[in-house]
Amino acid sequence: MTTVAMSDDIPFDKTFALAPGTVEEVAPGLRRILADNPGPFTFKGTLTYIVGRGEVAIVDPGPNDPRHLAATLDAVRGETVTHILVTHTHRDHSPGTAPLKAATGATVYAEGAHRAARPLHTGETARLDAGGDQAFRPDVTLADGDIVRGNGFSFEAIATPGHTANHMAYAYKEADVLLSGDHVMGWSTTIVAPPDGAMSDYMASLAKLARRPETTYFPGHGGAIREAPRFVEHLIRHRHGREASILHRLEKGAADIPTIVRAVYIGLDARLIGAAGLSVLAHMEDLVARGVVATDGPPAITGTYRLPG
Ligand SMILES: [Zn+2]
Repeated sequence: MTTVAMSDDIPFDKTFALAPGTVEEVAPGLRRILADNPGPFTFKGTLTYIVGRGEVAIVDPGPNDPRHLAATLDAVRGETVTHILVTHTHRDHSPGTAPLKAATGATVYAEGAHRAARPLHTGETARLDAGGDQAFRPDVTLADGDIVRGNGFSFEAIATPGHTANHMAYAYKEADVLLSGDHVMGWSTTIVAPPDGAMSDYMASLAKLARRPETTYFPGHGGAIREAPRFVEHLIRHRHGREASILHRLEKGAADIPTIVRAVYIGLDARLIGAAGLSVLAHMEDLVARGVVATDGPPAITGTYRLPG
């Protein structure tokens, strides 16, 4: 998520015309179906992917919405769902897992339960718990590089922490495409909001994907990303630019996060000010850890930041 003013450097594609509940085949053996949960953080809604034919895997069942569950089950009528894979435990992606598992008996694969990227500061829990699916538990936990095999399909699990600590992307080997979840999306930058998210992890996960061979990504929201490694390079440059803007502001003197948001995010949509503050906090955690920026105590949303020395 970002502002129009700050996203000119990334070739976003904001066109996406799939109707909720409609099944669409987008690559050999890859179908998608859109949940009806549009919003400023979800774009047109969450995408659920169906992989294979006859015996299938479902990636990201989506929100706990009976209509989306019914549409997903309709899409696989006459087929057997053997696997459910989850990219991460935000409420628009994973809560549909339990009812889908109950309906199909499929085995659930994911990196793990929802968790913060670092220990919480005092008073931090309540504000930031909102997006996490605390109830989610996979049947099988995945580590980076694990292969999940079904009848006619296989996935490589690619640990991509940053948006959440447990984010996994999945390379669908038979079609040579990558299901990128919320880590890389074509319509917007990704929210990296502490304590769920961590900027240093996110940047390392981007660098990891930039080195991979897959050229087409299918994300959790919005359309396919073509020439994906080049797009990932744009995302990396965008974050370096954001970091430079923050440092430029601090060269003028110490500042708190609201002041930095006003200086860096020109023309920001008022609904996104809170998220922008958390994004700056994510940069601050990274900059303080690297010794580039100083603050008193642990980096906090209420803290004051300055260049050291
Ligand atoms: Zn998410």
